[in-house]
Amino acid sequence: PRSGFCKSNSIFYSKRKPISLPANEFLDVTTFISSRAHNGKIAFIDASTGHYLTFPEVWRAIDSVASCLSEMGVRKGQVVLLLSPNSIFFPIVCLSVMSLGAIITTTNPLNTPQEIRKQIADSKPILAFTTQTLLPKLSGTGLPIVLIGQHDNLSIKQSRIVSSLEDMIKKDPSSLGTRVRERVSQDDTATLLYSSGTTGASKGVVSSHRNLIAMVQTIVNRFRLEDGEQTFICTVPMFHIYGLVAFASGLLASGSTIVVLSKFEMDEMLSAIVKYRATYLPLVPPILVALINHAETVKSKYDLGTLQSVLSGGAPLSKEVIEGFSEKYPTVRILQGYGLTETTGIGASTDSAEESKRYGTAGLLSPSMEAKIVDPETGEPFPVNRTGELWLRGPSVMKGYFSNPEATTSTLDSQGWLRTGDICYIDDDGYIFVVDRLKELIKYKGYQVPPAELEALLLTHPEIADAAVIPFPDKDVGQFPMAYVVRKAGINLSEVAVMDFVAKQVAPYKKIRRVAFVGSIPKNPSGKILRKDLIKLATSKL
Ligand code: AMP
Repeated sequence: PRSGFCKSNSIFYSKRKPISLPANEFLDVTTFISSRAHNGKIAFIDASTGHYLTFPEVWRAIDSVASCLSEMGVRKGQVVLLLSPNSIFFPIVCLSVMSLGAIITTTNPLNTPQEIRKQIADSKPILAFTTQTLLPKLSGTGLPIVLIGQHDNLSIKQSRIVSSLEDMIKKDPSSLGTRVRERVSQDDTATLLYSSGTTGASKGVVSSHRNLIAMVQTIVNRFRLEDGEQTFICTVPMFHIYGLVAFASGLLASGSTIVVLSKFEMDEMLSAIVKYRATYLPLVPPILVALINHAETVKSKYDLGTLQSVLSGGAPLSKEVIEGFSEKYPTVRILQGYGLTETTGIGASTDSAEESKRYGTAGLLSPSMEAKIVDPETGEPFPVNRTGELWLRGPSVMKGYFSNPEATTSTLDSQGWLRTGDICYIDDDGYIFVVDRLKELIKYKGYQVPPAELEALLLTHPEIADAAVIPFPDKDVGQFPMAYVVRKAGINLSEVAVMDFVAKQVAPYKKIRRVAFVGSIPKNPSGKILRKDLIKLATSKL
């Protein structure tokens, strides 16, 4: 296998040992993961209750739930929606659904009912899993529902509740009919996670079983390198590709123990590290910033002596944050991961403290991943140390966008190259540096905020003539959405009124937090918003 930059075709080959992919064409990711025995060890612990599941319990639960779903008529190719905070049952739902060849689509629990309905209209699920608390967000969708976790008798009696996950797990397999075993091929779709890609609104990212198997192998290879066994804290969201591939598949295959927090809460996270003697903490950059800002209090209240590694992913990590963190927590090594929903997880990473020492690098290409750095204007490929758009190709790159051939062909070319929309360079040693974002995407605390969605919403305001939304840099959250608004003639709309109008209709992380009024929105001759000009204008005073 090739490694490093190849001058003749301008391709950067991964320097890591390639992953091996199973030859059997008929294989689903659940079977692939569960074929690794991890005996009586603990797989998942609920951080707040201490309730845990061993590996054999996890496989048994998956088997029961899959049998129940099969009996309910869930079949290959059908979509199942999962609307839930992190829980030790989240991976069980995903893996059961995928074992049948059915497709799992996840959504952010913070999303509004309107936003969730949009995803439902696009992905057309036949069934939903959710919790009692989130149940109202699915009202009016007509979807049959399986309840996860605790619930009172009242809600279980509602006609649209068809079962509870607890009952499904407890079912005696002999009481169930034979499961319909459809042949699942590695090429079949496994997940449909939503991402706005390089432009426009959120789209369903089609990842196959092969894509996920490749990511599982990447993660397993990586953690084989680690010294000894690891206990992970899961506080990043499992509905996002980061949490999904790490905690609902990859680390399960590596036999790690995962302590699950329902969501990020600083004190709960720190208490869980101490209580469960956690060694490994995957995070997003804003949490690292908070850990630096509160370092003295943190260190006086919590003994984090077991913690060996912090992994940062999902958004850019600045040199200042890396340095600040290393200074405050000198015994903890800081690692980075770079990836996209469209690469079904990690595209590059640093795997050792040594690799991370090149401050600011997103790391080396994942095993079996290839890259090109391309001039976004001309498509000309660049050599080492030149900055351009990063293109990626490899076994975990998505199949395309769901029911959206246009977006698929503008993102994936005929040779399988994915345009990441990130501006990067790769140095002489193969380290990737992400320097800017070409695509429209805004990342607030690592969450995706597609500007196109907010612009469409602003244009529904009767007093707004035109609008553009851009990322505004912020050291605590990464970026937040800022709107440039053109008011209709003679209208005296205020900034607060614009922010309130949007805030009422979107999830909190999508809120517009800054507004400026302008006479017109700069656009190119074909009508495309010149976002870079607006970003320059917005940040010129900083
Ligand atoms: P998502 O699909 O939500 O994972 O978003 C993917 C995008 O997040 C990438 O295209 C990057 O713009 C950004 N991103 C993820 N990880 C990193 C990282 N380590 N450094 C810089 N940007 C990142």
